[in-house]
Amino acid sequence: MNEAEERDIVIVGGGICGLATALALHRKGIRSLVLERSEGLRATGAALTIRANGWRALDHLGLGSVLRKDSFHIDGCGIMKVDRGTKLEKLPLSKGEARCIKRSDLVEALAKDLPQGTVRFGCHVISVKLDPVTSSAVLELHNGFVIKAKVLIGCDGVNSAVLKYLHMNPTKFSATSAIRGFTSYPEGHEFENLFIIARKEQVLLGRVPVNDTLVYWFVTRLWTSIDSKISENQQLIKMSSLETIKDFPEDMKEMIKNSDRSSLSCLRFRYRAPWDLMLGSFSKGTVTVAGDALHAMSPFIGQGGSASLEDAVVLARCLAQKILESDRNTISDKCAMDKYEEALNQYGKERRMRLIKLSTQSYLQNKMFETSSMVVKLFCIVILAVFFRDSVAHSQFDCGHL
Ligand SMILES: Cc1cc2nc3c(=O)[nH]c(=O)nc-3n(C[C@H](O)[C@H](O)[C@H](O)COP(=O)(O)OP(=O)(O)OC[C@H]3O[C@@H](n4cnc5c(N)ncnc54)[C@H](O)[C@@H]3O)c2cc1C
Repeated sequence: MNEAEERDIVIVGGGICGLATALALHRKGIRSLVLERSEGLRATGAALTIRANGWRALDHLGLGSVLRKDSFHIDGCGIMKVDRGTKLEKLPLSKGEARCIKRSDLVEALAKDLPQGTVRFGCHVISVKLDPVTSSAVLELHNGFVIKAKVLIGCDGVNSAVLKYLHMNPTKFSATSAIRGFTSYPEGHEFENLFIIARKEQVLLGRVPVNDTLVYWFVTRLWTSIDSKISENQQLIKMSSLETIKDFPEDMKEMIKNSDRSSLSCLRFRYRAPWDLMLGSFSKGTVTVAGDALHAMSPFIGQGGSASLEDAVVLARCLAQKILESDRNTISDKCAMDKYEEALNQYGKERRMRLIKLSTQSYLQNKMFETSSMVVKLFCIVILAVFFRDSVAHSQFDCGHL
């Protein structure tokens, strides 16, 4: 085994959550190292909608104003039942602000303010073990390199290698998948500032303008084995989505026909069951997880990304409180490790209830979409009506300042 490099805080995964956590720590004057297996920043999935809670977290990270510049305010949601004409039923989308932003804009903004060398690309973590002497986490990389981390934060998505160390159940596959993409309108489009959802049986088509010239759309449908065959070929993805929405309004079909092929992706949803979040341990010693690694959820309430930004703010706040209250020159290693552990326990305490609520609501909405059983549908409707009567209350949440 190679000689180990030693670091205080290591983050595995340079997606939205990993970059946001590194930035949040940096804003508090704390250095970290992000290990990302890709060779560059990833923006698969075209865009995402950020509700008021996510914008609050972005404001705490100091990025709200720069990201608002190139994205429209979305005034609400318009639901269209395709079988019943093009009439829209208007619903709120968020308690307060909602905007759709390009994923590339978000990850670039998060990465831009990080000190040089914070993100190390091409670093695939394959295993995590405990050093029995120092209680540090020992990370083994695909190339044989070894890194020891006093604090390890797994932001490595739905197949998290760090999660395995925590012995939490792996994420499950949903029976639903989505195709996502962009369509550009160089001369400007004429869509209202609404998040339109057109529905026919078990197919949903979502359309939301990002700005004057760019529109994000998705097609959600039941997953079939064809999806895994087409997911590597963007021409096939386009053809498959057009086939799925063949009975939808002409302007929607036209939008997908004219979409930017390179922006298309197709993916089956993954989720963590709400009861895993209720019963699982969010950290072990000085190792924890955040973002999709902790709370992957199907995107029916569009909160996975925003919840990841909240995680980043809370995690950095908890770590900073403990690190800054101790004198780094005199504190012993054992004492420092105890402080880190307390910080991660505090993070788990602050996040658990919030994440249980989000994952339960999205779990029920996903179940309602994919099931053909009237009994299950009815059960979901009742639970949603009792516990989530205000369906956008989740966007009211404030994760607090850094
Ligand atoms: C169809 C769809 C639509 C969505 N729409 C919305 C929306 O509108 N609004 C919203 O808020 N959220 C939305 N989400 C959820 C959102 O995309 C995710 O919650 C968010 O991307 C999670 O970010 P993350 O950083 O935790 O994980 P990821 O984005 O998956 O990033 C994980 C990173 O870790 C890296 N990695 C993985 N394993 C390793 C390893 N072993 N070593 C090193 N690096 C590793 C990966 O390369 C990746 O860069 C949507 C999700 C889907 C599927």
